[in-house]
Formats: sequence, C-alpha cells, structure tokens
Amino acid sequence: MVAFKRPDGRKITDLRPMTAKVGVVPNADGSALFAFGDTIAIAAVYGPRLLHPQHMQDPKQAVLRVNYDLLSFSVYERKKPGPSRRSQEISKMTEYALSPVLDLKEFPNTVIDVQIYILQADAGTRTAGINAASMALAHAGLPMKDLVCSVAIGKQDTTVVVDLTKEEEDFHEGEGATDFPLAKIANSDQFTLVQLDGNISTDLIPAAIQLANDACAEIYEVQKKALKEGALQ
Ligand code: ADP
Repeated sequence: MVAFKRPDGRKITDLRPMTAKVGVVPNADGSALFAFGDTIAIAAVYGPRLLHPQHMQDPKQAVLRVNYDLLSFSVYERKKPGPSRRSQEISKMTEYALSPVLDLKEFPNTVIDVQIYILQADAGTRTAGINAASMALAHAGLPMKDLVCSVAIGKQDTTVVVDLTKEEEDFHEGEGATDFPLAKIANSDQFTLVQLDGNISTDLIPAAIQLANDACAEIYEVQKKALKEGALQ
C-alpha cells in the first residue's frame, strides 16, 4: 500500500505525458524535441565535420562534443545565462551516456557537436536532454547501434517513483531529496549513465532499476514513433 499521493495524481510507475518530434531545427544536420510534461529539451546535431583547431583532432575517431544549457527563462528563479559547473558536468555525462551507441571510429579527425537547450525546466532536464540528443543523432543519419533512453527515478516517502517533477523533488522529509538519473541502451541491459544525488538504500535499488527499465521501454516507443513520423515528412 502506498501511503502518499503524487501531487499530479500519477502512479509511481507513470511517466509525465511525453512529447517527441524530430526536425525542429531545419538548419541542423539532425534535431529533436523531447518533453516530459513541462520539462522541454531541444537538441541539434552538427557534423561530423573537420575539427578545428587541428590539435584537438583525434586521428582514431570523431570527438563527440555536447553542450547542455539550461536557458535563463526556463526557470522562475533568476538564473545567470551561460555555462556553469552544473552545465559542464551534465554536458560531460551526456557525452558518456551517448558515445557507446555511436560508431565514432568511422569519422576520424572530426567533431560531432550536440547542442542541448532546456527551454522549460521542471526537473529531469538531463534525462530529457539525453532523449532529445539520442533522437537528433539518429535524425542526422549517423550510424548508431541503438537509441539511448533516459529517465530519473526519485523517492517519495520510502518508495521509489518514476520521473519526478520539481515540486516532488523539493518535497522531501528526513533524508532529503533523491535524484537517481539513469540512461540505457534501448534494446539491451546496458546502462550508460547512473548518477545519484541524495540517498537511496541499497534494497531499493533493484526496484529503481526495474522502474527505469520499464520507463525506458515506453520512452523508446515514443522516440521511435517520432523518428518514423519525421522520416515520412
Ligand atoms: P535535472 O534537471 O537533470 O534533474 P538537477 O538535479 O541539477 O538536474 O536540477 C533539478 C531541477 O532544478 C532542474 O530540472 C530545474 O528544474 C531546477 N534547477 C536546476 N538548476 C537551476 C537554476 N540554476 N535555477 C533554478 N532552477 C534550477
């Protein structure tokens, strides 16, 4: 029996309504929008193109370069525009989450730029960004082993729940908020991102992984559908 109610009435396994679309930035080589409820991310891919300055090139493979930016108008509080430690960290983690599905060796000396912009933030922005970027890379026609799907698991009371809103993240008693974002390769058991902010007891981890697995299966269907619709246009 779950003793609490989620503010928006969702079940613990329910994701927020998802929106996904490709081709939202026509000048990019590939682009996509992905939203979990009020969290909206767009991603634009440029490349592979020759990397300058030359000393940054890798003769063995392409460099995947992600730039994540939470735009100032995406949150109600005052937020300084431009890069921050947080945005640098999320950019790096997104590179690690996506590179296992890419065949970077096929494009030596080049760079694949992935720009991720958060237009609206209501928690789960890094996961929405990864979902958008994964779709944008596929939309760019880059050879990929699979799509990457990402979701954050959180805790309410002593239960793990999927895809928390900011309101849910901010409401916590005792131990503090828990944000457990994960990303996985869609048709495999391989996780490419596992982060943890806050506390979670080890006996809740299997349930959290199960929630993430099931949520990722749903996210994957939404991503695929958008890519198929994009291909028809
Ligand atoms: P994530 O968005 O991936 O959950 P965080 O845990 O770092 O990443 O942030 C949680 C939420 O806090 C964000 O989704 C956003 O709603 C909010 N947030 C993050 N940074 C800021 C900021 N500088 N100003 C206001 N709100 C922010």
